[in-house]
Amino acid sequence: MEITIIGGGLAGAEAAWQIARRGERVTLYEMRPGAYTPAHTTPLLSELVCSNSLKSQDLTNAHGLLKEELRRLHSIIIEAADRTSIPGGKALVVDRTKFATMITEKIEAHPLIEVIREEVKEMPPGIVIIATGPLTSDGLAERIREITGKENLSFFDAISPIVDGETIDMEKVFFGSRYMEGTDDYLNCPLTRDEYDAFYDALITAERVSLREFEKVPYFEGCLPIEIMAERGRKTLAFGPMKPVGLPDPSTQKRYYAVVQLRREDASGSMYNLVGFQTKLTYKEQERVFGMIPGLHHAAFLRHGSIHRNTYINSPSVLTSSLQCAHMNRIFFAGQITGVEGYVESTAMGLIAGISAYMYLKGIPFEPPPDDTCTSALLQYITTERKNFQPMNVNFGLLKNYNKKEKEKTIHRALESISLWGRAMEPSAGYPNRPSALLAPDGMDT
Ligand SMILES: Cc1cc2nc3c(=O)[nH]c(=O)nc-3n(C[C@H](O)[C@H](O)[C@H](O)COP(=O)(O)OP(=O)(O)OC[C@H]3O[C@@H](n4cnc5c(N)ncnc54)[C@H](O)[C@@H]3O)c2cc1C
Repeated sequence: MEITIIGGGLAGAEAAWQIARRGERVTLYEMRPGAYTPAHTTPLLSELVCSNSLKSQDLTNAHGLLKEELRRLHSIIIEAADRTSIPGGKALVVDRTKFATMITEKIEAHPLIEVIREEVKEMPPGIVIIATGPLTSDGLAERIREITGKENLSFFDAISPIVDGETIDMEKVFFGSRYMEGTDDYLNCPLTRDEYDAFYDALITAERVSLREFEKVPYFEGCLPIEIMAERGRKTLAFGPMKPVGLPDPSTQKRYYAVVQLRREDASGSMYNLVGFQTKLTYKEQERVFGMIPGLHHAAFLRHGSIHRNTYINSPSVLTSSLQCAHMNRIFFAGQITGVEGYVESTAMGLIAGISAYMYLKGIPFEPPPDDTCTSALLQYITTERKNFQPMNVNFGLLKNYNKKEKEKTIHRALESISLWGRAMEPSAGYPNRPSALLAPDGMDT
């Protein structure tokens, strides 16, 4: 049996590397240069389609910690980024051509990796890792839809920002669902007429992201960018996503002029989603304009809002914690298509899929990484059942039992845990043996 990977982006190259460095053969299909996605422009593997920044290097930031975890797991992507980095302050910024060239040369030169430059349109036999990214080709998307079910494959994101619960000014907000006092699923940020007017003026004049042609997705009425909705009239938001009805002042029962609702994203209330605030404002402008909302003046943004083309599966319904299809074990998913967002997050899910597929091939049970690591936090986010699954960047709010006051300890624990886990995942560690018959892949011949 052999392992085939579809897609030579960040996740696919990482998965191939992890399998080959453990001593197994792998075939990697990449459709470029025969066919291109609308965002890629070179035949290089792991091309960065937009920014050349892999975000913060600072370990006190979840992006920095995730990178350090991947470094300790011998990630080819992070190694190439380190070796081709250029000055970028606290961020890991790379020379994009040198970065992708280094990865392409290492992957193509590896004796156990065969790179085939061909678009995959039918599901190959054997063990398959699908790593075709946010711009998966149409033909393959159709095959994926047959595996996941129509309702579990999305073609674009319309996501609202998420803020860190600890940074909300609780003096200015109150709990309560519309018409139902006493529930704490929502936090409400009330606005006076003056506050609403100032917010409105800032919103409609704020800087927006300029779009390339293919990024101009059709907006559905149900998820218009908040700034586009605002253009329809000064009061539109006060009658729409910011309507105050059913949310009176808890002590006076007076009606506010407008209310922004924040929906709890996790049981502990460490993250809150700004309901109905999907947007195409630039990240900086989101922080400035949404920071005008009472209660959010000092809010830390864990995820920014966006609307863009993105092929991704409803992973919580489709995948197990080993990134395998629950009803077709031979199929694995990796990278952004699993519902993570960003270069490094996609790399992390490529690395996990690579190790997991290798273990499956060998008939060894896959142990997911320990709970106290960022890698695990991402994996758990995408594979744990939840309402309204939406793509996510890494952030400390995803870590189980995260306590901001003990950040140093969190970082130390995460790095210790990932190093131990990484060592246990090396073939030299001598995996716990288990008869492969117990893991007999189902649907191998489908
Ligand atoms: C326009 C755009 C801008 C972005 N900007 C940023 C950014 O600035 N920062 C950031 O962190 N993230 C950004 N992202 C997200 C970024 O794409 C992903 O984080 C990352 O590239 C995903 O890695 P991946 O390996 O999952 O997919 P990709 O890197 O996209 O790799 C998928 C590969 O699969 C290939 N492929 C597709 N279909 C087939 C097929 N049928 N057969 C064979 N090969 C196939 C593609 O050619 C591609 O090489 C952006 C995404 C888009 C679309």
